[in-house]
Amino acid sequence: MSNQHRKNKKSFFGRPIWQNSTKTIKVAPQRYYQPESLQDVLEMVQEGIDTKTPVRAVGSGHSFSDAPKAEGILIDTDKLNRLSGIYNFTNKQGHYFEVEGGIKVHELNAALDKAGYCIPTMGGIDHQSIAGAISTGTHGSSLLFGAMSNMVKSIILVTHDLQDKSKAKTYRIERAGSNALTNDPDYQGPELIQDDDIFNSAVVCFGVMGIIFSYVLEVDKMYYLSEKKEVSEWKSVLPKLRDGSIFDNHRSVFVQVNPYKFKGKNLTLVVYHDDYATCDRNMFLERLKHGFWHRLKRFSRSFSFELVSRFPYLLWFAIWRINTFPNYVPRFLNTAVKSQRDEEYFNKGYKVMYQGLDYVKERAFDCEIAVPMDPEGNYLDTVEALMEYLGNLREEYKMHITSPLGLRFIKGSEVFLTPEHGEDVCYIDTPALLHVYGRDTIISRIQQFLLSRGAKPHWGKLNQYMDVDYVKTRYPRFDDFMRVIEKFNATGIFYNIFTKRILGR
Ligand SMILES: Cc1cc2nc3c(=O)[nH]c(=O)nc-3n(C[C@H](O)[C@H](O)[C@H](O)COP(=O)(O)OP(=O)(O)OC[C@H]3O[C@@H](n4cnc5c(N)ncnc54)[C@H](O)[C@@H]3O)c2cc1C
Repeated sequence: MSNQHRKNKKSFFGRPIWQNSTKTIKVAPQRYYQPESLQDVLEMVQEGIDTKTPVRAVGSGHSFSDAPKAEGILIDTDKLNRLSGIYNFTNKQGHYFEVEGGIKVHELNAALDKAGYCIPTMGGIDHQSIAGAISTGTHGSSLLFGAMSNMVKSIILVTHDLQDKSKAKTYRIERAGSNALTNDPDYQGPELIQDDDIFNSAVVCFGVMGIIFSYVLEVDKMYYLSEKKEVSEWKSVLPKLRDGSIFDNHRSVFVQVNPYKFKGKNLTLVVYHDDYATCDRNMFLERLKHGFWHRLKRFSRSFSFELVSRFPYLLWFAIWRINTFPNYVPRFLNTAVKSQRDEEYFNKGYKVMYQGLDYVKERAFDCEIAVPMDPEGNYLDTVEALMEYLGNLREEYKMHITSPLGLRFIKGSEVFLTPEHGEDVCYIDTPALLHVYGRDTIISRIQQFLLSRGAKPHWGKLNQYMDVDYVKTRYPRFDDFMRVIEKFNATGIFYNIFTKRILGR
């Protein structure tokens, strides 16, 4: 099912309707535009300024939050999907590619692969647009590279003219000083702004500063990854997480744990990614080994899970079973963990980082909340407290999450409004299938539970319990961020219902 993402645009007797991928956000915008060039975007923003109509861009609509909700001018970025090539106005060491904001992660990966390059990190699926993913802080699991926003070195933004707010204008935004990317005296292009505060505000700002036309991303020469998926008990993984030894010598570590005890155990999967600069293996044999032999072994271990991943419509059977026999959930998640055991998967970096199961994931939603990773490992107390809390909700109300808890680890960043600002974080992910009993209630309860412990929600996932007062207390550079935003969003056309709640504008 890979890469067949759900269509966002529908029509109602000839008039446009836009919906997110889970169909939980629907909107009938006043205007629906699909620009193909920078000039098109400039004209659309100008129309918004002239008519005082809100303007928002949407990517793939893979956010569950109302961040992309666009009731005025909706700019669908599907056709801004070109990889423009190597960026030449710099003599800095590294590999820099200019890429339009609407390109989907899988399109970007394919284009970079052809040129012999690969992105250093990505989320578990590849359907998002690059601007949508970066603007909400999308991440994989990486204490080495951080979130996807760390790839960004330069941004072309269409916004208000800083000298005359009645005009739309295009700027190129970068860091200042020795961290600036563009240093060629013959640079030609949009007016250059090299300023750390402006850059750190623009990278993760969910469209509130203007429309991102393109980025320059720093990527790697094509590299290969070896993935190992190990199954054990939470109580044997926990000490290694607490003392940090689990991360030693691994490029990336991702943990899934069944929060519900089955036969007295919380079964846990640890996914390790290790780096290989080049490929010294026969890829035909690797594909055969992974695609055939490993699948056969998994089939014998967990027949029902393999069936669901092969024939996704069987998911509806799984949902029926969860709703009808709630006591079955601990066993169901136990099998979900066990079925993923894998001795080795070896392939190009982006192919290994892509975790698949799109069909199921796009029929679920979640909140994903970042907890600071203190050196003593106390953040794990929060994980354990959440497991206990989920256990109580299950016992008492027969409400469940329907996937194992996901723990992903992200390096701190200087970007002002990214949840990992200034500190490494552990994201706790709690997915629930769309049609299971009590899904809204349990996701709400989890949010309230984690927010009461000071955690920071993902901007693209469910985060309806966060308001501007909470954001102010959790983001120390909030005031600097707002100073920049108010300058660029001078007439307020880039605000929406989401920003009203979390920024107070
Ligand atoms: C099945 C699934 C799996 C996921 N897996 C992960 C994961 O592994 N890790 C993770 O961190 N997250 C994950 N997410 C969350 C997802 O990555 C984010 O919600 C991301 O924002 C979605 O990208 P999008 O292109 O769909 O953006 P949209 O939802 O369309 O938009 C997101 C925000 O970006 C803004 N925006 C989009 N394009 C532009 C532009 N050109 N200029 C200005 N603003 C713009 C929108 O206005 C909106 O505020 C997942 C979501 C789903 C549904």
